[in-house]
Amino acid sequence: MKLRTLDDLDVAGKRVLLRADFNVPLNDGEIVDDMRIRATLPTIAALRERRASQVIVCSHLGRPKGKPDPAYTLAPIADRLTELLNVAVPLAETPLGPVGPGAPIFLLENLRFDPGEEANEREFSDRLASLGDLYVDDAFGAAHRAHASVVGLAERLPSAAGLLLQKEVSVLSHLLEDPARSFLAIVGGAKVSDKLPVLSKLLEHVDRLAIGGAMCFTFFAAQGFGVGRSLMEPDQVDAVRTLMHTAGDRLLLPVDVVVAEKPEPGVVTRTVPIDAIPEDLAGYDVGSQTCRNYVDAIRASATVFWNGPMGVFEVSEFDGGTRAVAAGIAKGSAFSVVGGGDSGAALEKFGYVDEVDHVSTGGGASLEFLEGKTLPGLVPLLV
Ligand code: ADP
Ligand code: MG
Repeated sequence: MKLRTLDDLDVAGKRVLLRADFNVPLNDGEIVDDMRIRATLPTIAALRERRASQVIVCSHLGRPKGKPDPAYTLAPIADRLTELLNVAVPLAETPLGPVGPGAPIFLLENLRFDPGEEANEREFSDRLASLGDLYVDDAFGAAHRAHASVVGLAERLPSAAGLLLQKEVSVLSHLLEDPARSFLAIVGGAKVSDKLPVLSKLLEHVDRLAIGGAMCFTFFAAQGFGVGRSLMEPDQVDAVRTLMHTAGDRLLLPVDVVVAEKPEPGVVTRTVPIDAIPEDLAGYDVGSQTCRNYVDAIRASATVFWNGPMGVFEVSEFDGGTRAVAAGIAKGSAFSVVGGGDSGAALEKFGYVDEVDHVSTGGGASLEFLEGKTLPGLVPLLV
């Protein structure tokens, strides 16, 4: 898949509308993790180097439901951008401006303050497009949404992918097209129903597929094991059985799990083999033997893709599996790609972000891309 790039645009002297994905985690108005902001800095720098007359950046944040909501203002983002770029980044009062001519970089207020954004309304797109001469899309995390700032702008202005979007697409395409072998995917997370489509698709590409997270209990149930009070999706058992059949011996499942009464700090934990999960307890992490197996599998691979935590990594009692996989990938020599979302957050938490080749800024979008779905935001940017 090839997208138009900045080289295809004549940026000098033009007002460039840059769609970024600044949908960062906030806690009481404080930015918890600014990875997505930092990831767009190279594109902003490139546009300035190419002498854009003004870079007007826009993004959504959270789900304000089509009306202004102070809890979702982009003000903290404008402050962080000002800090990171060392140049004042004023924030417009609304998603449609006004944008003063003075500042070289401007941030529009949260796009989702206007109902026209998510509805991809013609009038909203027209008015947004009128603020710029060119459109650059760097919002991989929003590429699976047919919203005004994603598709509406690309249809109205000469457009190209920014450096981040370009990298996201080239790395993920590489996984599907010609990964170095052996290729291992490790998938965890909460719900197997969310991940089954990507698991099936990955099986067309990978040499091995390792499973962790709450998902594994549906796999155990499919083999007839009791899973106690662990999260399990009974209506997915048949689909999981089919997947297990397709995967054959390429599938790696946990051999032990950490069980407890509840996933809370300070709780008593115990590691048990997967055929001995007590009825009154639930599994919240993979066990130590499983960690060793998965780290061995990582070492034996030339390409590793990881999405979804191995356990309830937010609680230290249950972060061992996720930590082991993150460390194994970080310390190993395989070409490594981590899907965004909670696995990206885990990597950040354990301090390994700089040790992997690519951490996707798009959780949902990276999975949909790997599933082979058409992402509406990419279509208008194709060469
Ligand atoms: P991602 O965002 O990386 O795709 P998911 O959103 O699918 O991952 O899942 C992440 C969540 O799954 C985390 O909040 C984690 O606490 C939870 N989780 C992982 N393993 C378990 C488990 N065994 N029991 C309950 N929740 C789990
Ligand atoms: Mg998630």
